[in-house]
Parts: sequence; structure tokens; C-alpha cells
Amino acid sequence: MAGDQSDIVILGGGLAGLSAGYALTRAGRRVQVLEANSAVGGLARTVTHGEFRFDLGGHRFHTANRRIDEFVRGLLGEELLTVPRSSKIFLRGRYFDYPLQPLDACLDLGIATTFAILAGYAKARFAHRWRKTPLACLENWVIAHFGRPLFEIYFRDYSEKVWGIPCRRIAAEWIAQRVQGLSLGAAIWRACFKRGGSALPTLTDAFIYPRLGIGRIADKLRSGIEPADAVLTNARVTRIRHSGFRVQSVSVRHGERDREFRADEFISTIPLQQLVQLLHPPAPKEVLAAAAQLRHRDLVIVAVMLNRPRATDLTWIYFPEKHIPFGRVHEPANWSADLAPPGTTVLVAEHFCCRGDATWSTRDEDLISTTVAQLEQLGFIRREEVTDGIALRIPAAYPLFEVGYQDRCDTVLAYLDRFPNLHLAGRGGMFRYYNMDRAIESGFSAAETILQRASQSEPEERPMPARRRA
Ligand SMILES: Cc1cc2nc3c(=O)[nH]c(=O)nc-3n(C[C@H](O)[C@H](O)[C@H](O)COP(=O)(O)OP(=O)(O)OC[C@H]3O[C@@H](n4cnc5c(N)ncnc54)[C@H](O)[C@@H]3O)c2cc1C
Repeated sequence: MAGDQSDIVILGGGLAGLSAGYALTRAGRRVQVLEANSAVGGLARTVTHGEFRFDLGGHRFHTANRRIDEFVRGLLGEELLTVPRSSKIFLRGRYFDYPLQPLDACLDLGIATTFAILAGYAKARFAHRWRKTPLACLENWVIAHFGRPLFEIYFRDYSEKVWGIPCRRIAAEWIAQRVQGLSLGAAIWRACFKRGGSALPTLTDAFIYPRLGIGRIADKLRSGIEPADAVLTNARVTRIRHSGFRVQSVSVRHGERDREFRADEFISTIPLQQLVQLLHPPAPKEVLAAAAQLRHRDLVIVAVMLNRPRATDLTWIYFPEKHIPFGRVHEPANWSADLAPPGTTVLVAEHFCCRGDATWSTRDEDLISTTVAQLEQLGFIRREEVTDGIALRIPAAYPLFEVGYQDRCDTVLAYLDRFPNLHLAGRGGMFRYYNMDRAIESGFSAAETILQRASQSEPEERPMPARRRA
């Protein structure tokens, strides 16, 4: 088996892995990025299908981190557009603003429902004040902040659609992060006393986006990593060899060949549970068991091409109701007109699922025809406008935050922390609900740890373990 040597081997060529490779190349280090797919970019790649381009679910770039913001703007320069955001939730045959404006939602649902929502909210606040219900699961968290009726009308179905498990088993932190700063009480207060006041952080109404799709960020990062073969695609890591708590090499299936890559340092951005399973010799039983319980939610994307200029004027449309098979739709041409040929458009529907379940296993033709039928029934398209369609399966799209996942994560991370030359970065790599900015930041952070360590010439000294949780 051929043996290749570099300074740093990076597992995974998504934004985290490429950002690490980019920063290390800039610092003069020899890197090898290994990516299982035929293209780089991971979840943030843009697919080309004929003359159409679309992301795996529209990706808007936004960040509160000035350094990352300046970096991405500098990387893409004139390619960047500023796109107004206008998203809706389709519920009970009507459209509501996204993020949900709880007060508008109440009022739009009619007087009886509004009354039930407000009464439910008052009851929940009262109960929470006296009983202090633990807010570890999504159900308790939402009921405490919005009341049971709004939980049942909106939050329950959408959350269970996204995650595929009951809300009592979903950890609260996902929803807490998404509706940060929102509650029914706060919405009523603002409506009564602060009309025209400042917007909440989740209500950002414009974002930057590359003219040719989000995948341009990965393309640009890749072209900053030298030499060209330092980024290897179609290269799946199949084994990670270690001895004395140091990673020695990784085995890779590259096309028809098996190859071995050695290095002093390794950065992993592949899903955490996969990393543990690939270790050789195997990790202790309790670590393997904890890793096996860290699960991901997967995704099927169905793109439908149409011979009409536009189907909507929206950025995203959310579909919480369970009888609608997809959870979200976006129209790439509303993000950048260059993503579809003139006079045509494409709608991209996200079907949340688990690898091997009924959705994942459905034939492509059936996924496309179900999506077309539903889009037609919802009034977005007419069947005769459809010129083409494609279905794509995306594994490990979302780390699944089941109640108790943090303990399993801690077991796995405590073990991996014993490997001084193995660094974790990225969304699946750290099992964090990271957006692109945090994925890039974590890649930079792993690179900086390696560079700092080299400059301190204390190879075995471990920097703060807290970096794994950045
Ligand atoms: C539907 C959807 C919509 C999103 N929308 C937004 C948005 O609007 N804004 C935003 O900021 N973020 C968004 N995100 C999140 C964003 O996609 C991620 O934060 C980011 O792409 C994560 O990058 P990463 O490098 O950490 O992980 P990944 O992109 O998952 O990269 C990991 C890479 O490792 C590779 N790999 C896995 N196993 C192996 C192996 N054995 N050997 C070699 N390679 C391997 C994978 O192929 C992949 O390329 C969205 C995500 C999804 C799923």
C-alpha cells in the first residue's frame, strides 16, 4: 500500500476541513485534505444539474463574528449579492411570517384560537412560575415560553418533522437557539408598548450570497490550498490507525486504490460517531456504545425544474404539517437570478428523514412525482410546467439532539481528548448545531491550535481541552 506523508491530514472537505486547510497552507504547512465525495463543500455545496444550480437546501450566510464576515467577504469579493430575506410558514392553508411572530400568528388564526392560545400561555407561565418544570426537552421549553396551544398548533409538528422523534425526546437547546429572544409574552409586550422598536436577532432581513451558489465559498477555499492534489476527492477514510494515544495514519479508499496517509497532526471534520468507529485498535466498549447512540438526521432533496420565470417571491417556505411530505422549499432564482436559465426556475424541497427509512428508500422517480403532486396541490406549480427533476440523498445533515445526548458526547470527547495530535472541527465533527460561520471558525481554530503548538515547541503540551467545545 502506498504511503503518503504530510504535516497535517484533514478528514473531510466541507467548510470546516477546507478552512483549516486554507489557514495551514497560508502558514506554509503541507496539508492533505481527504474528502469522500466527488466534490468539496460537504453540506454547503452547490449542485449543478444541466443549466440549473442549487444548494442542498438554500444556505444563507450570516454571522455575528466580524472576523469570519470579513474573511468571507474578502474571499468572494464582487461575487457576493445582498439578498433580502422573506420567508413564510404555510399552516392551515394560510401564510405566516417566518420566524413566527407569535402575536400575528394568534390573531390570524381567529378569535377562538387566539383566546385559547393566550389562555394557554397564561396558564403555562403561571404553572412554570410555581412548579419550575425542568426545561430540558423541547416540549417543556416551548410550553413554558409559548403555552401548550401554540406548541400544538405550530411547534410540535414542525419539530417532529425535522427530527423524526417526539418532542419529549428532543433536547431543548435546538429550539432555544432558533427562537432566541422570542416568547409570546415578549411579543405581546413589544406589540403593545414598542411598535417600530428594534428587531430581534433572529429576524435578520438580508444576507450575503454568492452569485453562483453557496458552494463558491468551498471552491474558493479549495483553490487557496496548494498544491492542487492536496485536496483529494473520492477519498473515503476507512480506518484510523493509532498507537500510544497518537494517531499514526489513515487508510483511504481512493477510487479503486487503497492508500495510507501519515502525518504529525490530524484534523477530523467527519461525523463524530464515524470517527470513533474507524479507530484501530477499537475504542473501549463504553466509548463505542456512547458514539453509537449519537445519531444524525438525514435529508432527501428533490429539485423540480420549471419552464416559467418564477413560482414564488420568497426565500424559504416552511411546511410544519405532517401530511405535507417536505418540511421546507426554496426557489434558488430568488437568491440569485444566475442559478436558473432565463425564463425558467427550480423549486428545491427538503424531505427530512433517516437513512434507510421509507423516504430515504423511495425510488427517485416516486420522490419527484410526490413532490410535484404536492407542489401542484399547494398551488405553486402546474404539472405541465415541469421539465425535469432530480432527487439527492444527504447523509448526516443534522446532529440529532436527543435528551441525554450531552452525556454521550462527553464520554466520546473525553476519550478523544487523550489523543494530543487529533483535533476536532465542524458540525458533524464536533456534534454541534453549527452554521457555516461556526464551521469555518472551528476549522480556523483547529489550525491555530496546531500552529501555536508548533511555535511553542512543546509538542506534548495540551492546550485547553475546552477548544473541543468551541
Ligand atoms: C438543509 C441545510 C440547510 C442549511 N442552511 C444553512 C444556512 O442557511 N446558513 C448556514 O450558515 N448554515 C446552514 N446549514 C449548515 C451548514 O451546511 C453547515 O454548518 C456546514 O456546511 C458544515 O460544514 P462542515 O465542514 O462542518 O461539515 P460537512 O459539510 O458535513 O463536511 C464534512 C465532510 O466530511 C466528508 N466525509 C464524511 N465521512 C468521510 C470519510 N469517511 N472520509 C472522508 N470524508 C468524509 C463529507 O462528505 C463532508 O464533505 C445548513 C445545513 C443543512 C443540512
